[in-house]
Amino acid sequence: MTAPQTRDAKHIACAEIVPDCSFTASAATEEELLKKVVAHAARDHGITVTPEVAAKVKAAIKST
Ligand SMILES: [Zn+2]
Repeated sequence: MTAPQTRDAKHIACAEIVPDCSFTASAATEEELLKKVVAHAARDHGITVTPEVAAKVKAAIKST
């Protein structure tokens, strides 16, 4: 199935950073996506996103 074009052009799977986590998110921009990941990490993993973690997150972001 071909995904339709949407405004959510950036995607991330938390499993890229935290193995076994099924959380995924998408957003229009990297900044917006990072905010979602920060909220998820704090809520579900008790992780504070440091610059090092943010760099890992950015490296794991996929564009469509
Ligand atoms: Zn997660």
